[in-house]
Amino acid sequence: MADLVHDPIALGRVLSASVAEPDIFRQHKVVCPVCGYDYARFTGVRLVSGNDHYEAGWAGRGDLLVVQFEGECYHEWEICFGFHKGQTFAFARRLIEGR
Ligand SMILES: [Zn+2]
Repeated sequence: MADLVHDPIALGRVLSASVAEPDIFRQHKVVCPVCGYDYARFTGVRLVSGNDHYEAGWAGRGDLLVVQFEGECYHEWEICFGFHKGQTFAFARRLIEGR
């Protein structure tokens, strides 16, 4: 199983710069933060409890909602939503094999 790289990646690195074609979807495509390839699928979702005490594995003290992705390029990453003191933060982070 791949290990997590904890350094957050700006969410803009995992979203296409323009809306997907055809533009009737009005959505951005999820792209690989490593190579930019735009063929990716979500592989799982999990909710990690922070217990309001920094226990969810991110910089905030609240819960973390994690959506796992795998690209057809074989890179893996997560898009995360973390709750901290009434605000929700969004970021991505990579998974690296054998680290
Ligand atoms: Zn990739």
